[in-house]
Amino acid sequence: MRQLFLQKPLDLVLHEVEPPHPGPGEVTVQVKAALTCGTDLKFYRRGHPRWPLPSGFGHEFSGLVLEVGEGVAIAPGTPVMLAPSAPCGECRDCQKGLSNLCPQCMQVMILGAFADVVRVPAPVVATNLYPKPPELDWWQAALLEPLSCVVYGLSLVNASGTVAILGAGPIGLLYAALARSQGAERVLLAGRHALRRLVAQRLGAEVLPESELPGQAVRVAGGADLVIECTGQPAVWEDAIHAARKEGTVLFYGGCPGGTTFRVDPGHVLEHGLCLKGAFHFTPAAVARARDLLIAGAIPASELITDVYPLDRYQEAFQRLDRGEAVKLGLQP
Ligand SMILES: [Zn+2]
Ligand SMILES: [Zn+2]
Repeated sequence: MRQLFLQKPLDLVLHEVEPPHPGPGEVTVQVKAALTCGTDLKFYRRGHPRWPLPSGFGHEFSGLVLEVGEGVAIAPGTPVMLAPSAPCGECRDCQKGLSNLCPQCMQVMILGAFADVVRVPAPVVATNLYPKPPELDWWQAALLEPLSCVVYGLSLVNASGTVAILGAGPIGLLYAALARSQGAERVLLAGRHALRRLVAQRLGAEVLPESELPGQAVRVAGGADLVIECTGQPAVWEDAIHAARKEGTVLFYGGCPGGTTFRVDPGHVLEHGLCLKGAFHFTPAAVARARDLLIAGAIPASELITDVYPLDRYQEAFQRLDRGEAVKLGLQP
């Protein structure tokens, strides 16, 4: 079978590898649809501190169960959708309901969905793997992971009043798609790239004029009760704090390069009564809710998936993504 590897930043190779077989509690999935996301693009550009190169990658996918391991009650041939990691359910974080922060989540994270076949670890099979209902197509079903992250992020905050989203990448646009149904009166979006700005508009966001610092554009527009940082740039993290109104909340979502820091003016935080909150990963409850939202048709997948390429045209797909000319791209084995 084929699997896409990142050799070093910007250097992708489609290797022929031995297909995986499932161990106890595991399944293998024949990939029908795999999507790129912001993490994949960052990985492509600069690698990742957690994942040494060369490495397979891609983690948003759906497909057909191919083989099942001992103790798994799923029939081969079942169409499935999943979120590609799962908590242990036993550690202190899990016991406190913070299963998104469970160390196991990153340890069992599936990397390698840009491939013909993927092995799904037992904790994921047990917790975050679902049958795909026929009303969802493969591409919609592959949106389960990013949507779970956004559902979890919104569960941490009050999204009423004016919500400003900084960054028009896939996650920023998913926040834009969901914020209104969570109670937002106005959804402002500050971000770059013509296509992504157009998609934001179609999703019902008020797109702000392009500005070097997106928070500044929000400030000019009157500020926001909730500011959601979705760029992963330290300068924007700093800037986001100044886009929030008094008693507002800043939700930080975008992961910055390892080793970077950002500055906060303590007086500004105190005198504005700000709440600064980080949102990391997702919980199984968020995955279940995200699946319900997909089934209810709450997410316009066709707006978010700009185009679909056969897997062997990965080069073209990643170069296009790198140029900012797509929201998400599909890779089809
Ligand atoms: Zn993702
Ligand atoms: Zn745990």
